[in-house]
Amino acid sequence: MITSFFYSNFATSKFSIAIPLKTKKDIRALSKEQLRDFFVGNNDKAFRGNQVYEWLWSKAAHSFDDMTNLSKATREMLDENFVINHIEVDAMQRSNDGTIKNAIKLHDGLIVESVLIPTEKRTTACVSSQVGCSLDCKFCATAKLKRMRNLNADEIYDQVVAIDKQSRLYHHHKLSNIVFMGMGEPLMNYNNVIKAIDKITSPEGLGMAAKRITLSTSGVPRMIKKLADDNVRFNLAVSLHSAIDEVRTTIMPFNNRFPLNDLKESLEYWYEKTKRKITYEYVVWKGINDRKEDVRALVEFCKHVPCKVNLIEYNPIDDGIYQQASETALNNYISNLENNDIVVNVRRSRGKDIDAACGQLANKS
Ligand code: SAH
Repeated sequence: MITSFFYSNFATSKFSIAIPLKTKKDIRALSKEQLRDFFVGNNDKAFRGNQVYEWLWSKAAHSFDDMTNLSKATREMLDENFVINHIEVDAMQRSNDGTIKNAIKLHDGLIVESVLIPTEKRTTACVSSQVGCSLDCKFCATAKLKRMRNLNADEIYDQVVAIDKQSRLYHHHKLSNIVFMGMGEPLMNYNNVIKAIDKITSPEGLGMAAKRITLSTSGVPRMIKKLADDNVRFNLAVSLHSAIDEVRTTIMPFNNRFPLNDLKESLEYWYEKTKRKITYEYVVWKGINDRKEDVRALVEFCKHVPCKVNLIEYNPIDDGIYQQASETALNNYISNLENNDIVVNVRRSRGKDIDAACGQLANKS
């Protein structure tokens, strides 16, 4: 329940007082059941709740006036009680390679970024889960923005709807995949991310298959176990970047709190319960994790749970401390992983010219 208030200032000749006024609730925070109850409580039929729910989610209505199968009196009653918070695409940039980066304005004026990444066979939405980020990865531009707040489930869902529209408009087919690799750490906003994914996969929302969704995490062991317990059907990617605690703590300081052994245990638990492979995301940096022992440690780490490795190209974030390692170092990783029967892909960046690539989302606009 939203219980916030705003204050309206009344200036008189002698003094000014602040009178708290109750703000209207965001109707999209209500479940279908709650909407049905609301109508019953107002001497109306429960199925009105279904109608409104459909307008809000499948039809993405932004105003009660759009809800044309409701009477004028019902629409006015809703308007008196609720608002429909929604996001807006505030600015859109298109890259030479077709990638589109959106600055998304939230109802309170804060901005997050989401990206549409087209390839020959698919279009992928890269969505944000927090304004800023809870974590402190040294190589990531988003980490430089402190976490302002978590996104609500509907704000996450709306990013997907907006990008699906762009996919249909510019690429003439619907969105095929979603990755939680935008701003923020999705497992530090667990409930809202799960609620949003439920909407995305539900027939009353976008009806997308869960297997087309990948949640990427820096690795919060407790929450990885919770994902497994909650029996989620989407894919899990872990931003590993090093399989040696001292190195990983230097580049991802929160590794102090969630060391590799705990991460490993949680991933074993995930695999035991879900039987789904993990993807490790890994950037190789010059002088940081390009030694033989770094490669050996990764190979050993990969043996614990069935997995594949995506070697990601580094997207510089201006400070010059982190630099992409040499081709030789990269090839060393590839041959050692392959010799141990571990699947490895090299991922080239997209949308670099507009700062839309991994780790570059930082609200520069
Ligand atoms: N917090 C989540 C999701 C956001 S980051 C996570 O850590 O997985 C998405 C991916 O981009 C992660 O694999 C992250 O390690 C990677 N990344 C961050 N900064 C990067 C950069 N400058 N260049 C390349 N990849 C980067």
